[in-house]
Amino acid sequence: MLVRAIEPSEHEAARCLLLAAGWDRAVSNLQEFQALLAASQVALVAVRDGQVLGFVRAITDGLTNGYISMVVVAPEHRGQGVGSALVRAAMGESRRMTWVLRASDDGAITFYKKLGFTQSAVALERAGDKTAFASAQVDTLAVEFGITRELVDHRGLLEYQEATDLVAVGVNSEGREHRLTPAAAQAWFGMQTAAATDGVELLIVSAFRSVARQAEIVRRKLGAGQTLSCVLALCAPPGFSEHHSGRAIDLTTPGSVPLEPSFDQTAAFAWLSRHAGTFGFRMSYPVGNTQGFAYEPWHWCFK
Ligand SMILES: [Zn+2]
Repeated sequence: MLVRAIEPSEHEAARCLLLAAGWDRAVSNLQEFQALLAASQVALVAVRDGQVLGFVRAITDGLTNGYISMVVVAPEHRGQGVGSALVRAAMGESRRMTWVLRASDDGAITFYKKLGFTQSAVALERAGDKTAFASAQVDTLAVEFGITRELVDHRGLLEYQEATDLVAVGVNSEGREHRLTPAAAQAWFGMQTAAATDGVELLIVSAFRSVARQAEIVRRKLGAGQTLSCVLALCAPPGFSEHHSGRAIDLTTPGSVPLEPSFDQTAAFAWLSRHAGTFGFRMSYPVGNTQGFAYEPWHWCFK
């Protein structure tokens, strides 16, 4: 067995181990998990014959303190020293450092006591609120609109971070700039040019949208007398629109009514269905999508 830094090809295997072991934060999709790994100083795997047996993640300054945040071992490899090897490797050689962790069940407490941990008389903690959303702004808006964690989980909605690095890719009829992340913008221009070469004109209806703008849209619809469930069937709650990511675009083509399912009858849609994947764009909300949105043949996202 070898314990070493996790490699990108092992991210999904580690995420699946955590999910199976009941972890419920920052592991619901690969993107979220990779953001977590990128922000952690220690992320190690135990491997044998190319198989990931276990994973550990820790946050540390490397000098004085460290926090062991995640340890998981595949059920069929427990009791074989995999967990101990991971935790020892994460903590490193220095005995001067203080390491802390959270453990609630007896098995885990016994496991860590064998590694030199004692139950602390000095630790204090403010535990994270699992019902809170990642952004304080989204939390406040959720209260305003009566959007609960239960509703979000039931719908399988994903919270998107608002993109900050954006470039203009054009303007709409009212002169408002369409903006995308630099990578999505580059992919969009490539796709638009390729479509034009095939005689298909692709136009952006909508690109990046801020959380505040999404809130305005929801507020206006509610103000016009629509019920919340009616609004949310077509429109994401603020914080949960893929447009916040700066990677999503709503597309149309001359002669088509924007944002109507009939877009799927156009030559532009046929072209996108065949070629968009080549440019890294996928249709996010097909019929029967897992987030419970209405069919949106016009909405494509760069991944
Ligand atoms: Zn859209």
